[in-house]
Amino acid sequence: MNNLSKNYINGQWVAWQGETIDVHESGTGEVIARVPASGRDEMEQAIAAADAAFESWSESTLEDRLKVLEQLHAGLKERGGEIAQAICREVGMPIKLAVPIQAGMPAAVTKTYLKMLPDFPFTETSGNSEVQYAPVGVVGCITPWNYPLHQVILKIVPAIAAGCTVVLKPSEIAPQSAYILADILDGTDLPKGVFNLVCGEGHTVGDTLIKHPDVRMVSFTGSTRTGHLIAHAAADDFKRIALEMGGKSASVILPDADLGVAVKGTVNNCLLNSGQTCTALTRMLVPADKHDEACELAAAAVAKMTPGNPLEETTRLGPLASAQQRDKVIDYIKLGIEEGATLVAGGPEAPEGCDKGYFVKATVFGNVKPDSRIAQEEIFGPVLCVIPYTDEAEAIRIANGTQYGLSGAVWSADDAKAKKVAGKLRTGQVTVNGGAFNPLAPFGGFGHSGLGREFGKWGLEEFLEVRSLQL
Ligand code: NAD
Repeated sequence: MNNLSKNYINGQWVAWQGETIDVHESGTGEVIARVPASGRDEMEQAIAAADAAFESWSESTLEDRLKVLEQLHAGLKERGGEIAQAICREVGMPIKLAVPIQAGMPAAVTKTYLKMLPDFPFTETSGNSEVQYAPVGVVGCITPWNYPLHQVILKIVPAIAAGCTVVLKPSEIAPQSAYILADILDGTDLPKGVFNLVCGEGHTVGDTLIKHPDVRMVSFTGSTRTGHLIAHAAADDFKRIALEMGGKSASVILPDADLGVAVKGTVNNCLLNSGQTCTALTRMLVPADKHDEACELAAAAVAKMTPGNPLEETTRLGPLASAQQRDKVIDYIKLGIEEGATLVAGGPEAPEGCDKGYFVKATVFGNVKPDSRIAQEEIFGPVLCVIPYTDEAEAIRIANGTQYGLSGAVWSADDAKAKKVAGKLRTGQVTVNGGAFNPLAPFGGFGHSGLGREFGKWGLEEFLEVRSLQL
């Protein structure tokens, strides 16, 4: 891919002569690309370009915005194969899943905005007032590596649709799809300066972006640790923030549920993208008298998930994105053993035949104590904790007993009962009896999982200020 050694500022690819960051192939550990470890000056130039472009883009017509988003959508569809390959190699998601999820979802989400925008009320009437929805201003977008294009699209599409201008700092671990995106946008009618990309590390360019006075909003997806830093920095000059952060989501299997279906659904969800999914159902809550049977079913399900080369069509479980992430997950598996949980499947050793790359065995722990560290902290790898409970009230207490609140699931033979329990979970979304993912539903977290919502009209409203004219 061209331009990986550059930044995209004010409608131009700008060469970078300084230090670079290696991008690794997750399945082999080899270096597959190098991107700029840009400095604060480059970030300031990009912010200045976005600031200069704001006045005219904020007054662009809906037709102008729709035209650019149509062009973006066409580009995402056309380059889907390239996007899926790049992300599969960086992040480790098997290619068979990377095509529909990592490449397909960004195009699908863009389409939802194309459909929704013409009907969105940018002005409303309330009594004798006209209520106007105005773009926030320059938006800094900071994104992680696990769904690297999807998370970017969820920010830049509604931001551009709202009339904001954008500076994107993508993940330095999986940056290539952001470069494809910039290349697509470069070929559209988007005016220069509306979208800018600066690649580099969080503590340098990311830090400049979150603290710059001309940036009026930071939209962030990533760890709760970085989210804290952003919230503190934003408080200094009352920047608006939208934070999508970590999770430790519970799958609550009620006593009357079909155990086989519920365990299979939970394991598949937990292991998606090798567990590198913020909404992963990593705690499986089962009635105490069904604990052993649930563990056997979970072990049988993970046994089918042999790790392998993510580029092969038959692979169902790929590696993790980096050596650092692999080592962190292995340390958590060792911690689970030290904490006295029962190792039901997997373990800390490298999987057979995977001596290169960042592979970890799919691991299941049984008899996990709800307050142990493996049940409380986000592991972000293929590790499932099975937690027994005695009654429904205890199950709800355990499900709500972490600092997080991003996702969850409830399984029951009785849909109404499942829905009632789902309504008691302190979490931003709940899957009831395996309900399908919906890109039109609001997405975000309670507690330390986030502030604000993405997707649909809720995602668009994050980028709008409200002004009322009294007439
Ligand atoms: P991370 O917080 O380490 O990095 C995310 C981004 O923040 C990167 O671009 C990084 O360079 C940047 N960053 C790091 N330090 C910074 C600083 N001091 N100032 C400004 N920017 C900085 O997260 P990660 O490890 O890349 O991603 C994994 C995390 O993301 C997990 O916790 C996961 O749950 C979370 N996540 C959440 C969602 C969600 O929607 N809630 C989605 C995906 C991932």
